[in-house]
Amino acid sequence: MIPPDPIGQFKAALPLVREWVAATLEAYQDQVVPVDPGDYPRLGRIFPDALLKRARVVVVKDNPPFPPLSRMGLPEFTAFEAMPIAGITYRNTFFVKHGQQTESLYFHEIVHIIQWERLGVDHFLLAYGLGLMQSGYRHSPLEAMAYALQDGFDRGELPDNIMELIQQQTDDIWKRAASQL
Ligand SMILES: [Zn+2]
Repeated sequence: MIPPDPIGQFKAALPLVREWVAATLEAYQDQVVPVDPGDYPRLGRIFPDALLKRARVVVVKDNPPFPPLSRMGLPEFTAFEAMPIAGITYRNTFFVKHGQQTESLYFHEIVHIIQWERLGVDHFLLAYGLGLMQSGYRHSPLEAMAYALQDGFDRGELPDNIMELIQQQTDDIWKRAASQL
């Protein structure tokens, strides 16, 4: 059943999601490894050193952790909880399913790190949640943006000003989201 005010419900659940993210990062802190630019030389040419040094990776055997949103009062997200995912990013840490550690996926997740840093935790979660509700996973704006840039990475066709571009696109997504919140 669709609740009468899904955006209001998501805003109400925001503290629970934020706490879940913090608790999850804490729970995995012993398994965190850096992004080694020696393993991912193209990333080292595209992104600033300081950003790659801030990025953290956790390789997991099964599906990366996903917040139990249905138990947080958001039943419309139940389908997303069962969705198979290769990688997911929380703040400066991304989780990658074992066997999926490609440079292309790492690129995609680092785009999300930049989005998280640009928006801050609450604005990222609000924009991401709104996008999932309105457009589904693949076409939610923060994902569509990461996938489009990943396509450019895969084809070797990225603009030189990639950091400014990501920040600008992220700001634009937030502006559109904020007008609905
Ligand atoms: Zn993504």
